[in-house]
Amino acid sequence: MSFLNKISIISKNVILLSVVAIGFFAITFISYKSMNTIKNRLDIVYFGNIIPATNLITISDMYSYNILNTIHQYQNSTLDANSAKIKILDAKEVIYNSWGEYTALYQTAKEKEISDYASEKIKISIETVDTLIYLLESDNKAKIEEIAKNELYLNIEPVVDIIDKLTAYEFSLAAHEKIIANDTYANTIKMLFLTLFIVFFLTAIIFFFIVTNIHQNDARLKELNAKLTSISITDPLTQVYNRRYFDIIFLRELQRVKRKKETLCFAMIDIDFFKLYNDNYGHQAGDEALKEVSKNLKSNLKRPSDYLFRLGGEEFAILISDVDEDGAKEFFENTKSSIKKLQIKHEKNPQGIVTISMGVVLLHPASECDNETIIKKADDLLYVAKKAGRDMVVFENL
Ligand code: GH3
Ligand code: MG
Ligand code: MG
Repeated sequence: MSFLNKISIISKNVILLSVVAIGFFAITFISYKSMNTIKNRLDIVYFGNIIPATNLITISDMYSYNILNTIHQYQNSTLDANSAKIKILDAKEVIYNSWGEYTALYQTAKEKEISDYASEKIKISIETVDTLIYLLESDNKAKIEEIAKNELYLNIEPVVDIIDKLTAYEFSLAAHEKIIANDTYANTIKMLFLTLFIVFFLTAIIFFFIVTNIHQNDARLKELNAKLTSISITDPLTQVYNRRYFDIIFLRELQRVKRKKETLCFAMIDIDFFKLYNDNYGHQAGDEALKEVSKNLKSNLKRPSDYLFRLGGEEFAILISDVDEDGAKEFFENTKSSIKKLQIKHEKNPQGIVTISMGVVLLHPASECDNETIIKKADDLLYVAKKAGRDMVVFENL
């Protein structure tokens, strides 16, 4: 089954189609072959046994009813000599024809032996019949009486007996052929159902793997999509949201707070003297410091609607909503303090550690400010904080 997992959907579809095609071909082939076999068996039964048996029954009837009965009627004087003669002549002709047709059909060596024996007996009986015809012409009742008594029954009886045996034999062959035809039919039905079952079973298995494949691919695509989305909105160095996501979220949050009539607090954050930090400790150390600062900034965010972004370089932005002036001031003062608590050594900063400056605006529900104005204002306030000596939060209501 691991083999089926490895091959592509296209290959699986090709296999599926092949299985179905082979299945239908097999079903058609089996049906065709079996129909032919059944037809041949029925032909054998009909032409090989039933028709010959009919000939034999006719012969037997001719002897029993048309000859013996006619003579009997003649003796009882219920039939005149001429009518009896015509009936017997007819019977004789039918016997000849029927026996000729019977012997002309295919016969096995054993059957031929029996039919030759029967031919001999028929010949003898017909000789007696001929004598009777001759006597009927002269209406010689006494002689006919004598022949009928001494020869006719004696000669006809073995013929009828052997003809009846041959009839029974032909019917037994027919019954045997019928059994074979029935068996062929039953086997055909079994084979067809088996083939159908195999085709259905294989189709179901392959179909199952195709569907599984599609599901797996779908899940993989969803996973990759989620990963790509995550990558596209994440800053690779600090793993916080990037500028692109900021542009989306800022507008979305702005609309949301306006709709809900909540406040929105936006802070622009910049690390103080960071160029000097880099110059002093190297770019690598600068990267580590950036990571540490962003991790700390992020740890201060508690609500799902609180966001931290790295806007570029050593500049960050925080967006929180539904907060009043005191709450906002307290939150950002704490944020500033928590960075200081990290005690990241920075010799070129007059305080000896890494500090940050912030420009914070609190947008009230009634405010008409748009996104650009808000950002510009926060940036201006950050500039004010820098000018005023850094390590500072400059706050304003909008
Ligand atoms: P100020 O207190 O006025 O903000 O001074 P500053 O030195 O921080 O000034 P400025 O904002 O102009 O300097 C930003 C510096 O941040 C410049 C660059 O060396 C550094 N920087 C920007 N991006 C990265 C980064 O991805 N990694 C590192 N290590 N340093 C960066
Ligand atoms: Mg800067
Ligand atoms: Mg700076």
